[in-house]
Amino acid sequence: MSIEKVHTVVVGAGQAGVAMSEHLTACGVPHVVLERHRIAERWRSERWDSLAANGPAWHDRFPGMEFPNVDPDGFPTKEQVEEYFVAYAKRIAAPIRCGVEVKSVRKLEHRLGFLVETSQGPIEADSVVAATGAFQRPLVPNLIPGDVSLLQIHSTAYRRPDQLPKGAALVIGAGSSGVQIAEELLAAGKRVYLSVGPHERPPRAYRERDYCWWLGVLGKWDAETRPAGTSHITIAVSGAGGGHTVDFRVLAAQGAILLGMAQSFNNGTLTFAADLSDNIAHGDANYLALLDEADAYVVRNGLDLPAEPEARKLKPDPACMTSPILELNLAEAGITSIIWATGFTSDYSWLKVDAFDEEGRPRHQRGVSSEPGIYFLGLPWQSRRGSAFIWGVWHDAKHLADRIATRRRYMEYHAQRTNVEITAAAEQASLRADKARG
Ligand SMILES: Cc1cc2nc3c(=O)[nH]c(=O)nc-3n(C[C@H](O)[C@H](O)[C@H](O)COP(=O)(O)OP(=O)(O)OC[C@H]3O[C@@H](n4cnc5c(N)ncnc54)[C@H](O)[C@@H]3O)c2cc1C
Repeated sequence: MSIEKVHTVVVGAGQAGVAMSEHLTACGVPHVVLERHRIAERWRSERWDSLAANGPAWHDRFPGMEFPNVDPDGFPTKEQVEEYFVAYAKRIAAPIRCGVEVKSVRKLEHRLGFLVETSQGPIEADSVVAATGAFQRPLVPNLIPGDVSLLQIHSTAYRRPDQLPKGAALVIGAGSSGVQIAEELLAAGKRVYLSVGPHERPPRAYRERDYCWWLGVLGKWDAETRPAGTSHITIAVSGAGGGHTVDFRVLAAQGAILLGMAQSFNNGTLTFAADLSDNIAHGDANYLALLDEADAYVVRNGLDLPAEPEARKLKPDPACMTSPILELNLAEAGITSIIWATGFTSDYSWLKVDAFDEEGRPRHQRGVSSEPGIYFLGLPWQSRRGSAFIWGVWHDAKHLADRIATRRRYMEYHAQRTNVEITAAAEQASLRADKARG
């Protein structure tokens, strides 16, 4: 049986796979994109109904196409994001095969390239790009046993308030997902407890410019390394309902009961660290620092943007901050559901190559892995802070396509030289045979 051969196989057709295809085509690299479900699947089936993009339409997009029918300063709905990538893939004629799952990728023995086993048969490829996303497998801390009689779901399984049983809800995690879900549940009339960890909370807009613009002009999206001492930064922002600044004191005023980090569970009672005030103070400091940097930028560059002194006025601390709850019996508090907005982990179990460190993390430089021919795309901080976001992945894909095309040229040179050498050797042998025959 002959095996299909393609120069580059891209695994996954989210934004990363689509961007990769665009740049590979531009570099003349033959490729296919294999997607186990549909283009932009995670936006379709792993996000809640009311989700809007966290960044405005002018920002959270690829350079080559605007969002059709969305105000550039508005926040596209999740359906509009999904439609955008489907339209984009069509526009660039991306060779995407949907419904094809990659089961494994292995290095070919004593030969260049990889064997890609898929649900529709094997493919041999010189290069493989893992574009399967930074947010792959829901991460739920092993805190509350599954047999405790309440509904426990991860934010990927949350859809809308009426999906939850009657009673109070506890949202654990206060990044963009946790905060947005808590706000939606409060608005639906639920009693909401929200466990808040360390976070950043930039202003939605300041002096008439969105925070995405401020992070751009202040060079923060381009920061190449995480701030010292941080392994992960949760950003609490929201594009819901036209977008607004996340303010935990406002949430508390609306009825949310804020808690520190969930710590342990025993006999129906959940305990919380005494870190709520610190976490909120850290978020405030981050918020105020951005206002300071923005003000300095305005002055230094003589920009005509209206001052906004009221943005600096913080509301008084609510009772749940001044007298924090450190223990909560879930049944007594009437909590019938827990939504874990605790993030994601990666899953590269299908990628059986030497490209991971001892802890299973991709070993790479700007997405170029330690296994020649294997590339990663869409990783957090792959080359900079913006890497896992819509606009950032496009630039990382460009870099990878350039590297893949360069490596391909080396291989082509090798193949040409090998052919020349084989032909020359054959000619020599034929001459020798002619001579021997006289
Ligand atoms: C709740 C939430 C909201 C977000 N909002 C924004 C936002 O507003 N703006 C922004 O810029 N970023 C946002 N992000 C971050 C990021 O843009 C998204 O997570 C985005 O989906 C990542 O795109 P990706 O292509 O890297 O990965 P994914 O979208 O995860 O795509 C990977 C694809 O690979 C496929 N796949 C996986 N394994 C295999 C396999 N073995 N074989 C074949 N196919 C496979 C999957 O089906 C999937 O379609 C958000 C993230 C989350 C979690």
